[in-house]
Amino acid sequence: MTKPTTASGNRGLQLEQGLIFEQDTPGATAVDLPALPHTRDRLGGMKNTKRIGLPGMSEPEVVRHYTRLSQKNYSIDSGFYPLGSCTMKHNPRLNEKMARLPGFADVHPFQPVSTIQGALELIDTTAHWLKALTGMPAVAMSPAAGAHGELCGLMCIKAAHIAKNQGNRTIVLVPESAHGTNPATAALCGYSVESIPANSEGRVDLAALKAALERSGSNVAAVMITNPNTCGLFERECIQVADMVHAAGAYFYMDGANFNAIVGRLRIGDLGVDAMHINLHKTFSTPHGGGGPGAGPTVLSAALAAFAPVPFVVHDAQGYSVEEQAGFGAAKDSFGRMKGYHGQFGVFVRALSYMLAMGSDGLKQASGDAVLNANYLMARLSTELTPAFPGPCMHECVFDDRFLKGTGVTTLDIAKALIDEGVHPPTMYFPLVVHGALLMEPTETESKATLDQFVDSLLHLARKAKAGGAEAEFKSAPQLSPRRRLDETKAARKPVLRWTPPAAGAASQAAE
Ligand SMILES: *Cc1c(COP(=O)(O)O)cnc(C)c1O
Repeated sequence: MTKPTTASGNRGLQLEQGLIFEQDTPGATAVDLPALPHTRDRLGGMKNTKRIGLPGMSEPEVVRHYTRLSQKNYSIDSGFYPLGSCTMKHNPRLNEKMARLPGFADVHPFQPVSTIQGALELIDTTAHWLKALTGMPAVAMSPAAGAHGELCGLMCIKAAHIAKNQGNRTIVLVPESAHGTNPATAALCGYSVESIPANSEGRVDLAALKAALERSGSNVAAVMITNPNTCGLFERECIQVADMVHAAGAYFYMDGANFNAIVGRLRIGDLGVDAMHINLHKTFSTPHGGGGPGAGPTVLSAALAAFAPVPFVVHDAQGYSVEEQAGFGAAKDSFGRMKGYHGQFGVFVRALSYMLAMGSDGLKQASGDAVLNANYLMARLSTELTPAFPGPCMHECVFDDRFLKGTGVTTLDIAKALIDEGVHPPTMYFPLVVHGALLMEPTETESKATLDQFVDSLLHLARKAKAGGAEAEFKSAPQLSPRRRLDETKAARKPVLRWTPPAAGAASQAAE
């Protein structure tokens, strides 16, 4: 199958277009302003007489440009998005309606506290839900994302060690299967990272953890474990992990980004966890994937609560107020401030709206359905693909590339061919402990029909690869997308972030 060429470069009604700068019509404008009245120039000869480099465009051209750009952005609103470890689920429109209520949308963080009592109550009520759902006594609401929540947790841990004169604890233990943000956070916090291997089941190797704690226990500050982990498996031995970590004088950080699999079913406070961030934008349905805003409230155990960052909301007989200053009053031991203002307020509104609409019974059903959907994918796909670990799984399932052995086709080729099938590819080559991984998280909001269509496409590709002779076709996928295979390494390492006008007479700079 070759890609048909068209004179325009357009395909069907998918239009090719240059950058906005390449569409420049000098003098064109989207507004029709009356001529300026004559005023005396007070710039003393400094007036700019050259063009300032903004493209000239009419209103319909501007509208079409941005509308087309928005359509190039694949999203959960356009189709199935099985990206593992991301919880790309439907975001109920009710949440958006609530976040846009003028009382919430127009509130300003500098308003006097007496005028924002309702907003502070909303933050406090959201915090109450998070504490109740995790069985933890405290929560820091200000972190702006999951990774920021990890930083919050580790900074609380660091402050707690320093308060006990244990600043010598400089090591953080992280399993091999950890999300990349875990070791990155520990490093940013000034810790050195020691990796703990996984056992053959894809879970933390308890014996290896024990050995690491015996080797350097008095220098270990914390252990960070994702649960359910990025192999889609529940870490069954968390209580033993907590006991071992506490016996060594360290703290237990749990990465709670995968909370969607357990919400309403497990109180992580019962596992002995000291700190865990919750990605409100994943579990509690705020649109994400384009870089934010999200929110990563971090629940804290009694041992860490006093070190929580400012600001935080306090509620007493006088009503709601905000503790702003570390080192004073209720924030006496706070490690300080990690973000301007009070946190991602709009995300809190969406999260609370979602929790209230779902109710505790609805949240419990959502996690159950998320796990059921992942197991359905795993069961159907296991007929042709090779699961990396024996099931059942939690909210996501992971396959390795043994099913492609000898075919010449790789995980990457399968992912690219899925684009031609109209499916956003799953997470690839992660977790790193799985060879040629395909990690898929369907979430609870996809119907059986959608899952079946996805499975049918993937089974078709797996059979085609195994039948042989299709290697060249796979290597040239995607055939039907506006762009084919891009040099992703070059794009990451040498991004072209600035458009420069082509030299007179030269061909315009490639828009890819
Ligand atoms: C998404 C995710 C994170 C990071 O969350 P951000 O909000 O993207 O910073 C951390 N750990 C795991 C397991 C995740 O899936």
